[in-house]
Amino acid sequence: MVTATGGAAQSREPAQSPIDVTFDAIRFDPAQPRLSVSYWRTDVELEYVRKDLSSPTGCVTRQAEETEEAAVEPGSGHVTLAGVRYDLVQFHFHTPAEHRVGGRADPLEMHLVHRAADGGLLVIGVPLRPGTRSTVDSVLARLAPECGEPVDVPDIELGTLLPANRLMLSYTGSLTTAPFTEGVRWFLATGMTVSQATIDRFQQLFTGGNARAVQPLGGRTLALTPRTGG
Ligand SMILES: [Zn+2]
Repeated sequence: MVTATGGAAQSREPAQSPIDVTFDAIRFDPAQPRLSVSYWRTDVELEYVRKDLSSPTGCVTRQAEETEEAAVEPGSGHVTLAGVRYDLVQFHFHTPAEHRVGGRADPLEMHLVHRAADGGLLVIGVPLRPGTRSTVDSVLARLAPECGEPVDVPDIELGTLLPANRLMLSYTGSLTTAPFTEGVRWFLATGMTVSQATIDRFQQLFTGGNARAVQPLGGRTLALTPRTGG
């Protein structure tokens, strides 16, 4: 994780997520390590993640940090970056998209969360826009209730959650929910489509949205990063 180096912690420039991607912050570095994706088929369990367990009205109150989260079977997916392996743990959804591009947000964003043996986190963000049906429609066909049983979704081909376009933008940021831990490696993919009906169903659950506001980019840049596999 990122720690302050000398001086007061508050003097350090924050490196939080999400961000608004501006084109002048994008860099091409031929030495940038590529992201190798190894995704297979898995059953997933879609679960409503609660943040208000102690509230008497928690079962009907939507919180901005709550979401629908799909747990994958252990070993069903991992990515490798510069020799370090990060295992896919879960993926979840935000509305509207947390990352913006030139100030514009898509209606949904999917976050695929990976963890290394040392605890380091790597998240692939995929913006989702209305169009033809995709694997996301299968995952979100029935949403898990806030206080009820998770929904089993069999036989998801994880590789089909990523777009055919293999260029990604990478930067270092943070978790977008508490405790907003920094040092998270972010990889932003180009968009995938999902049906308008699925977007509507998710937005009817989170009527006030469940996305964090964009955070200052500061001096950070985004690196064009090729992906292999997945
Ligand atoms: Zn997220």
